[in-house]
Amino acid sequence: MRILFLGPPGSGKGTQCKKLAEKLKIKHLSSGDMLREAVAQNSDAGVQAKSFMDAGKLVPDPVLIAMFRENLTRPDVHGGFILDGFPRNVAQAKALDELLQELGASLDSVLNLLIEDSFLTERITGRRSCKNCGAVYHIKFAPPKTPDVCDVCGNPLIQRSDDKEELVKKRLETYREQTEPLIEYYDLRRTLKTIVAEGEPEEVFARILEALRIV
Ligand code: AMP
Repeated sequence: MRILFLGPPGSGKGTQCKKLAEKLKIKHLSSGDMLREAVAQNSDAGVQAKSFMDAGKLVPDPVLIAMFRENLTRPDVHGGFILDGFPRNVAQAKALDELLQELGASLDSVLNLLIEDSFLTERITGRRSCKNCGAVYHIKFAPPKTPDVCDVCGNPLIQRSDDKEELVKKRLETYREQTEPLIEYYDLRRTLKTIVAEGEPEEVFARILEALRIV
C-alpha cells in the first residue's frame, strides 16, 4: 500500500504513521525525521535545511525532492510506504506525481487528519522524544513513567527545538499558507479521506484502519 498523510503539526500524524507502518509492515518515510537526521549528521542537505527549520519555515523544495527521489527508488519501499510530511506544498505534490509516474506507481490513499486549532499548541509544546530510540511522549497526555526518561531505553527525553512555543505559531502559519492547499489538490483527484484526529491515539488509529478498510 502507498499512503500519504496530511495534517497540521500536532495532529498526531507521526504517531499514527508509525503505528500504521508497523501494522502493515511497510516503510514510514518522515520528512521531518530525515531532515533532523541530516542536520545531526551535518550533511549537505542538513546544512541547507537547518536555518529554515529553526525559523519554522519550509526547507527549499529541491532538498526535499532529491531526498524523496532517493528514498522512493530504494528496493525496501517496493512493498509500500507511508509518506509523512512530504509533500508540504503544491510544487512538491506535483514533483511527487511525476516521480510516482516514473516509477509506474500511484498513491492508494491520502488521509487528512482533521483537528481543531485550539488543541494543537498544547499538543506540540508538551511533546518530548527520546533521542536514542525515537519514542515519543507528551508531558500531559502520554507521560513517561519517570519524568524526562524514556520508558523504552532509559535515555533522557528531549524537546525538539522547533516545538518551543515561539516557533509553533510560525509553523502553524506555514502549514495554513503552504500545506493546507494540498487538501484541495488531493480532493480533486478523489483519493482524499478525512479522519477526525481528536481523542485517544487508539481511537484515531481505529478510524484510520476503518477508512482504509483494514480489519
Ligand atoms: P515535521 O517534523 O514534519 O514537523 O518537520 C519539521 C520541519 O522540517 C518543518 O517545520 C520544516 O522546516 C521541515 N520540513 C519537513 N518536511 C518538509 C517538507 N516536505 N518541505 C519543506 N520543509 C519540510
